[in-house]
Amino acid sequence: MSKPLEGRQVWFLTGSQGLYGEDTLSQVAEQSQRIAETLDRDPAVAVEIVWRPVLTDADAIRRACLEANSADACVGLIAWMHTFSPAKMWIAGLDALRKPLLHLHTQANVELPWHSIDMDFMNLNQAAHGDREFGYIQSRVGVARKTVAGHVSDPDVAARVSTWARAAAGRAELSGLKLARFGDNMRDVAVTEGDKVEAQLRFGVSVNTYGVNDLVAVVDATDDADVTELTKEYEDTYRLAPELRAGAERHESLRYAARIELGLRGFLEQGGFKAFTTNFEDLGGLRQLPGLAVQRLMGDGYGFGGEGDWKTATLLRTLKVTAGGLPGGTSFMEDYTYHLEHGRQLILGAHMLEVCPSIASGTPSCQIHPLGIGGREDPVRLVFDAEPGPAVVVGLADLGDRFRLVANEVDVVPSPEPLPKLPVARAVWKPRPDLRTSAEAWLTAGAPHHTVLSGAVGTDEIDDLAEMLGVELLVIDADTTMRRFTKELRWNQAYHRLAQGF
Ligand code: MN
Repeated sequence: MSKPLEGRQVWFLTGSQGLYGEDTLSQVAEQSQRIAETLDRDPAVAVEIVWRPVLTDADAIRRACLEANSADACVGLIAWMHTFSPAKMWIAGLDALRKPLLHLHTQANVELPWHSIDMDFMNLNQAAHGDREFGYIQSRVGVARKTVAGHVSDPDVAARVSTWARAAAGRAELSGLKLARFGDNMRDVAVTEGDKVEAQLRFGVSVNTYGVNDLVAVVDATDDADVTELTKEYEDTYRLAPELRAGAERHESLRYAARIELGLRGFLEQGGFKAFTTNFEDLGGLRQLPGLAVQRLMGDGYGFGGEGDWKTATLLRTLKVTAGGLPGGTSFMEDYTYHLEHGRQLILGAHMLEVCPSIASGTPSCQIHPLGIGGREDPVRLVFDAEPGPAVVVGLADLGDRFRLVANEVDVVPSPEPLPKLPVARAVWKPRPDLRTSAEAWLTAGAPHHTVLSGAVGTDEIDDLAEMLGVELLVIDADTTMRRFTKELRWNQAYHRLAQGF
């Protein structure tokens, strides 16, 4: 069965021991395969679940963990102690393990066979204490993991496994991500700076800068026939402004936008880059600030950050992979301006041009307007309103001694009035619990103005991802109060400093 996160696997490990004899161990194998299959067949679970042979000794456990470490397709491990697996056998394996771990605390049967239960049944079905032994050793070794308790037939169990598996797929993507920056970050801006060496060590992402004229060379070399083909695709896909159509007075600008897309896409494909940044201060020989091209590349799953913001570009690519196959879009975003009417406070989010059409409600229109920034020809862009619905806004900041993620649960709403003069794509949202608390908490946390907005993934996926990465996450949601949030910031400060050691 094909899965939304194709090519991504989670390995299902079952712990036991040799003591029980062949008969019992074959029952353990058969029942654990059934549990792995139940998860694998569940359409809610987005990755392939691969059952592995039952583990009964320390050497096999260590080898299974080492194999998982080196298997690129394997994004994480689920472990379940069907019987009792004396946990010293797990020390070497867990100590070597570098992939995310989910401890599934379950059992084969839903109901106890009250009238027929005997000691054979008790011996076979002892996860209730076998998993406690495993919980102890994970805590003792200090293994970060998610623990999920319940029978696999419970939709909530499959959903929580899937959330974690999605986060694990995001983490796997991040661990090998290559990001190309065209130019540095915007001069004098603080929050888009950061430690790229630390990011590569902690996350795996490699961030490197290319001269924008390397890009200009590919843009200028694009084939005229390919450009014509792509402008036809624009005409078929979007509501194209009459002045941009073939034969109309500004069609040449659309052709140049298509050249940027072809050049940029080719550059990224050639280098194996899945994320990139641009900077309007450093456009070299580019005649337009890339708008349409950036929007369409984000729509195809690329991570992007404006003004050289590689951290947000990294986060966007990671969350796009995490969200694979889910309804709703995921975009680069910036808190732009407020509606502060009492009782109906809203945030209008947008960027100069670069908002991803995956969050669009309806068919975007393709337009051309002047842009006061960048000092180039008028750029072509997609204009649309974001689809209403629950969403999350996430930002990644570098605090000097560590990275911090901040997430705010929000509700994207229809714009209360039309915005006929606003020539950019935008989203209007109501932050939870309210604008005042959301903004005060966001500012107190020092969280960035560039974010990722997603209607596809939620706080749960981000929470699991932060846990896997060992990165601080602060959540602003319906229950947030400033009194508790301020205390959480202080506790986190102490915790994360201590957790780093010396
Ligand atoms: Mn910006």
